[in-house]
Amino acid sequence: MKEKVIIITGAAKGIGWGTARCFAAKGATVVIADMNEQAAEASAHQLATEYGTPALGIGCDVTNREQVEAMVQRTVETFGHVDVLVNNAGICPFVNVMEMEPAIWQRTIDVNLNGAFHCTQVAAREMIQRGKGGRIIFITSLAENITGPAQVDYGASKGGLRMAMVGFATALGQYGITCNAIAPGMILTDMTRFHWEKPENAAYIKKRVPMGRIGQPEDIGKAAVFLASDDAEYISGITVRVDGGYQTRAD
Ligand code: NAP
Repeated sequence: MKEKVIIITGAAKGIGWGTARCFAAKGATVVIADMNEQAAEASAHQLATEYGTPALGIGCDVTNREQVEAMVQRTVETFGHVDVLVNNAGICPFVNVMEMEPAIWQRTIDVNLNGAFHCTQVAAREMIQRGKGGRIIFITSLAENITGPAQVDYGASKGGLRMAMVGFATALGQYGITCNAIAPGMILTDMTRFHWEKPENAAYIKKRVPMGRIGQPEDIGKAAVFLASDDAEYISGITVRVDGGYQTRAD
């Protein structure tokens, strides 16, 4: 991964941060693009210190087209090009659909789906212009296929994101750019900690997940490193489920 430049959105913490660490551990240059500029800069500084690799933190709300364009432009000005984009930024408000304010629905779709459109289109144009291919990875969710009453907005956004990934794969293959998704199962981050740290829910995971544990952000990061590697050059348009076997189990 040396010489590769990786942009990861929403990477100041959680799955994005775990993914940033996995790429930096392989010697990649990582751009942490996150809503929270200070947190993005602090995380980039930590990466550079810990792994001795170049890293840059940029404040960027993925729903804002101008900010996305500025983020990709600054990446190119600083490091010369973009090899990999990881569309990771996402939210899950956990509100029952029948009580949900329309603004919450709108924001979930804006961040999880529209944000990935902006980042993919802008980064892919850069990759096409350079002419050396690229990799785009979409962090979806098991909710790309299944959902529940308090995740209808989330499921709609992630199902849409999966199809956006498939569609971009058809549009970008001719340029040597692959597009794939990773669907995480239950991963311990600030998004889900409130739920999985309750003893009864922790016990459920142990029993229900064949691997017998909750996932960690690095479990997703390792899959992302593979999909970004030369070994994955002929893989495009698929979802890799990283859930410890959870969704294969019928009981
Ligand atoms: P997290 O811990 O809440 O981290 C998400 C990061 O994204 C935060 O740094 C957040 O910044 C940032 N972010 C939010 N909105 C943004 C925006 N508009 N533009 C740029 N950055 C933004 O969540 P996570 O669990 O790591 O989730 C990462 C991705 O994995 C999401 O797409 C999520 O849907 C997906 N996922 C997670 C799980 C799980 O079990 N955790 C399972 C399946 C899929 P602020 O904190 O400043 O808002």
